[in-house]
Amino acid sequence: MATIRVLDEQLANQIAAGEVVERPASVVKELVENAVDAGATTIDLTIEEGGLNLIRVIDNGSGIQPDEVETAFQRHATSKLLSSADLFRIASLGFRGEALPSIAAVARVECISSPTADGLGYRLVIEGGTIKHQGPVNSQQGTEMSVRDLFYNTPARLKYMKSIQTELGHISDYMNRIALAHPGIAFTLRHNGNELLRTPGTGDRLQVIAAVYGTSAAKAMLPISAETPDYNLNGYISKPDLTRANRNAITIVVNGRYIRSFLVNQALLQGYHTLLPINRYPLVALEIGMHPSLLDVNVHPSKMEVRFSKEPELRALIEQAVRKVLGRDRYIPEPAAD
Ligand code: ADP
Ligand code: MG
Repeated sequence: MATIRVLDEQLANQIAAGEVVERPASVVKELVENAVDAGATTIDLTIEEGGLNLIRVIDNGSGIQPDEVETAFQRHATSKLLSSADLFRIASLGFRGEALPSIAAVARVECISSPTADGLGYRLVIEGGTIKHQGPVNSQQGTEMSVRDLFYNTPARLKYMKSIQTELGHISDYMNRIALAHPGIAFTLRHNGNELLRTPGTGDRLQVIAAVYGTSAAKAMLPISAETPDYNLNGYISKPDLTRANRNAITIVVNGRYIRSFLVNQALLQGYHTLLPINRYPLVALEIGMHPSLLDVNVHPSKMEVRFSKEPELRALIEQAVRKVLGRDRYIPEPAAD
């Protein structure tokens, strides 16, 4: 019989990476969410070759203390959770302390960060979980994370990567969603030198909708807002004459987190009911706010699924709000333009 041993940290990180870092878009998601959590007002993403060569996120957020940069790359190291009670009232996007060590286990990572505007920062280079260099460096306030050669040391995962276009599609989709979720942050996305997204960061969600879906789509959106003592809604839904063949233009944001939810989708579609043509779906950017204790985000490592405490109340709120905005029963579709 083989002896039972505790995995060493590097191996444990590689295993966690299998779950947390599925593809380049997962790295983008983790790095951008860290920047959002750091209170950044500008977040710039540069990628090369669908993210397999380079993913670089630059933010102007709080930065990391020089003597904490190395710690940030340790497993289960986080500044966002202090006690188990915090786990039941999570207000940040991250909390697992897994992203940085997982990414660093399967790529070459350079982190430059400064918590101050005095030009002094700290730089750490870590490759495949091994620290190659660290020390003081000149830096503006905020954090710059560069992830190169993703999966260079896990050829089995690399083999599963799809075309550059497919990986770029996942990244671009995520950036659109997080920008819709945070209209107060100015986002840019550049791929191989081409700018693919730029949002103004004014706090106006309709401007983000215009940046993502175009100005004519933005003109066909209706504002929605409603609340109960437990939940509040706000955002935009499209008039029934602006639809898509799939649900991909439905963005649901819960306490600042872009999530997937069957329940919310169903409630939205129930609200439209027969106003939607068969197999057509609306454009939606809906933010749902609630006290963090009413939400369980610790369902899956990717944090894309959540559990709501009072499902029937939320479902009814959404359905009725959509109905009201559309003036259902009174609504007469505009003649199709050609
Ligand atoms: P988590 O986000 O779950 O805390 P991560 O591994 O993603 O775990 O990050 C570890 C820690 O590193 C964070 O808790 C935070 O303190 C720090 N950190 C990471 N990225 C940034 C950033 N862009 N700006 C400021 N601090 C950061
Ligand atoms: Mg994180």
